[in-house]
Amino acid sequence: MSEEVLLMGPGPSPVSQRVLRALSRPLLGHLDPRFLQELDSVGDNLRLAFGSSARLTFPVSGTGSAAMEAAVVNLLWPGRTVLVLENGVFGERLTAMAQRAGAKVVRRTYPMGSPVDPEDVRQALRESGADVVAIVQAETSTGVKSDVDAVASLARERGAQLIVDTVTSLGGMPVSMDAWNAAIVYSGSQKCLGAPPGLGPISVADDALAGRPETSTVQSWYLDLGLIARYVGTERLYHHTAPVSMVFALGEALRALREEGLEERFLRHRKASAALRAGLGEFSLPSRVAPADLLPSLTVVTPPKESDEAALRRELLLAEGIEIAGGLGPWKGQAWRIGTMGEGARLGSVLRTVQAIARVLRRDGRSASPAAAAQAATSAWEETQ
Ligand SMILES: *Cc1c(COP(=O)(O)O)cnc(C)c1O
Repeated sequence: MSEEVLLMGPGPSPVSQRVLRALSRPLLGHLDPRFLQELDSVGDNLRLAFGSSARLTFPVSGTGSAAMEAAVVNLLWPGRTVLVLENGVFGERLTAMAQRAGAKVVRRTYPMGSPVDPEDVRQALRESGADVVAIVQAETSTGVKSDVDAVASLARERGAQLIVDTVTSLGGMPVSMDAWNAAIVYSGSQKCLGAPPGLGPISVADDALAGRPETSTVQSWYLDLGLIARYVGTERLYHHTAPVSMVFALGEALRALREEGLEERFLRHRKASAALRAGLGEFSLPSRVAPADLLPSLTVVTPPKESDEAALRRELLLAEGIEIAGGLGPWKGQAWRIGTMGEGARLGSVLRTVQAIARVLRRDGRSASPAAAAQAATSAWEETQ
């Protein structure tokens, strides 16, 4: 098996040498003041990325789904109503978790490939009287961006708490927890943040957990944010052993984010996705997403017709060392999902990807020029502002 794979799927994304080196630092104990200092620094840098001033901002010990579950089980309990806005697989996952938490779940679904429709949300909020609204900013199953600003102001008008999934957006496009007045915003370490999978950054508004009745305990002991706050906050009370090396890696990835600056980083993601789309345009692989809804971190196209798309991806992985992903859910077999996330959002990664796809398509008997794809990608990179 080849050692190096260029990870251009929907996560995990490539990690830099400095992040890899952080993983091999000597261990510290989870109560060592030097480790706690690093955990605090991770919190500070996450606040920057989340656009949050919330005290309780830290990486959940688990992947993005663990952070999602933490959001759901801490804000929902029997007797509460949640409005889940579903436009793909991750919205469905929110619903599945909310149902297990015993809340009344009202689902609004939007077609695969479409964003959440704020006008429909206005009506659904009025009809449901929901206590909580949950939305995915960047739906990774389809590559679609939804308008969280609009949904956040509707939620605020109705006095509903807001949960925002920013797993595929944090570090790649603007996230504004304070401006949204969101109750909980969460993410994952392995997408645009450029760390390995294993942590789920989360930010919890200072008043978010206040409404729970005393008779109702959080369904999950491990993900009870009130208990975890006693460890990550000033009390430093042991709850569970923090994944020390993973926190080092995320800490390093976030220092790189701070050094680069958010605006520069967002621009780099826009340039990379424009370059990728221009390169793919040379092979007539049409986008599955309307221009207004495109994500800078993930491009979703229709794979070549009359070919076995899974076999082409396998060839790309095994012969060219590049990973991309197929479709999820109803789009299985009908989509290629190509990420430009974190360290993958660089011109060099995009050029390697489009040139390798061209070679794979040629071996499949199609006309595709690696040089033309590289040229188109480079021009788009340079032109994007
Ligand atoms: C990847 C992803 C998740 C789940 O994250 P895991 O790290 O796979 O648990 C949740 N929501 C969205 C939008 C994602 O892209």
